[in-house]
Amino acid sequence: MISKADAIVIGSGALGAATAYYLSKRKDFSVVLIDKHDIGSQTSPRAAGMVSCVRKSDLMIGLIKDACRKIETFTEETGQPLDWVHSGSLRIARRPQDAEVIKDDLERGRRMGLDVDLISPEQAHRLNPFLKPTGVVTAMRIGDDRYFDPAQVAVGFARAAAAQSVTLLPKTDVLAVNITAGKVTGVTTAKGIIEGPIVVDAAGAWTRQVAEASGIGVPLVPTRQHLIITEPLDGVRADLPMVQIMDAAVYARPCHGGLLWGVYEETPQFFDMQSLGASFDVKDMPLDIEVLRSAATDVKDQLPVLETAQVREFRGGIPTMTADGHHVLGPAPGATGFYFASGCNVAGLSISPTLGEALASWIMLGKPPVDLSPMSVMRFQNQSWSESQLQKEAAWQYRHFYGAV
Ligand SMILES: Cc1cc2nc3c(=O)[nH]c(=O)nc-3n(C[C@H](O)[C@H](O)[C@H](O)COP(=O)(O)OP(=O)(O)OC[C@H]3O[C@@H](n4cnc5c(N)ncnc54)[C@H](O)[C@@H]3O)c2cc1C
Repeated sequence: MISKADAIVIGSGALGAATAYYLSKRKDFSVVLIDKHDIGSQTSPRAAGMVSCVRKSDLMIGLIKDACRKIETFTEETGQPLDWVHSGSLRIARRPQDAEVIKDDLERGRRMGLDVDLISPEQAHRLNPFLKPTGVVTAMRIGDDRYFDPAQVAVGFARAAAAQSVTLLPKTDVLAVNITAGKVTGVTTAKGIIEGPIVVDAAGAWTRQVAEASGIGVPLVPTRQHLIITEPLDGVRADLPMVQIMDAAVYARPCHGGLLWGVYEETPQFFDMQSLGASFDVKDMPLDIEVLRSAATDVKDQLPVLETAQVREFRGGIPTMTADGHHVLGPAPGATGFYFASGCNVAGLSISPTLGEALASWIMLGKPPVDLSPMSVMRFQNQSWSESQLQKEAAWQYRHFYGAV
């Protein structure tokens, strides 16, 4: 096994693989990408693959616009396939208070150059006939939104990184990040030690566990998220706009002639990854179809098809939530050379090309390309949540993903 590298990336999901890929662009800089499972096999390929451009801050809109460009040029850039569809989406408010939120979103989106406008419930129905106008108070059309095949991103970045001489180490468990006198010296894996001054903790649901094994705290909550893909349905076209029902936190998009849909559940299930055992694989996460059935009932007036469509696939993964809904990216306090790429808040796949490039530049140049302080783990330094407070905040962020109040 390789015994030394300039940078060691732990976790080959979208965030780790993208970081390794962009790090590999520097000449004479060796990178190793390690995963305890197969490359890109955990939460990343189980996502919905949607890109939502209307965000709560100018910073996030700027970053996701850049990610859209990188998704469009992914194949040109990496030489790897990525199937994507520029469908746009419809964000639906069923309550006046959520319609107020849409007004703010519209103003911010326009100021940031997004293709957004308000349309009537009937116009929304004409754009996507599966969405019925009943009970719709306000509809916002978001022309920039798109979706892609989630299974292609992490694997694509990892293959492209390997083609640029990154060493891939699948099925290699990192047991500890080694730190001496406040500086990273490498990692201890189940197969031996790799020395190196820079380590990126991109371990997804296990990020906190990896950091805590070296005495570094990061307030992340691994959270269940699952979705259904239906059997093909008459009338589904790949370019039908995606639908997001704000207060129900339900989303749907076309997928292989059927619909892919899911919900940010009211009472999310959190996991302590430690208690699941060292060999736990995300594919074995317990699923609960009742959560989806109840969500389908909640939106039966707007998306009646969800109650009747036959289920073709039911799957889930374990994204990580933070108390403020922002990602965790950049250096860790107290350990020179220790970086995070995590805290995906169920939106890490779509933004991974941009965050991977930003983190690589942060590592190489000592600063990020734009001010990313809202993502710095330093923001938590003066917070001391109990686990239950952290989970309460994280649950709120999770359920309110579409900005409902
Ligand atoms: C149902 C669902 C729908 C979603 N929809 C969307 C969406 O529409 N848009 C979007 O942007 N995002 C979406 N997401 C979120 C998205 O999947 C995540 O943000 C993204 O995949 C996070 O990538 P990651 O690299 O952090 O994690 P992962 O893909 O889980 O990768 C982490 C890797 O670290 C490895 N690892 C962990 N511990 C160790 C260790 N000790 N040693 C070595 N390796 C280790 C793991 O094996 C794993 O491969 C969705 C998620 C789910 C589950």
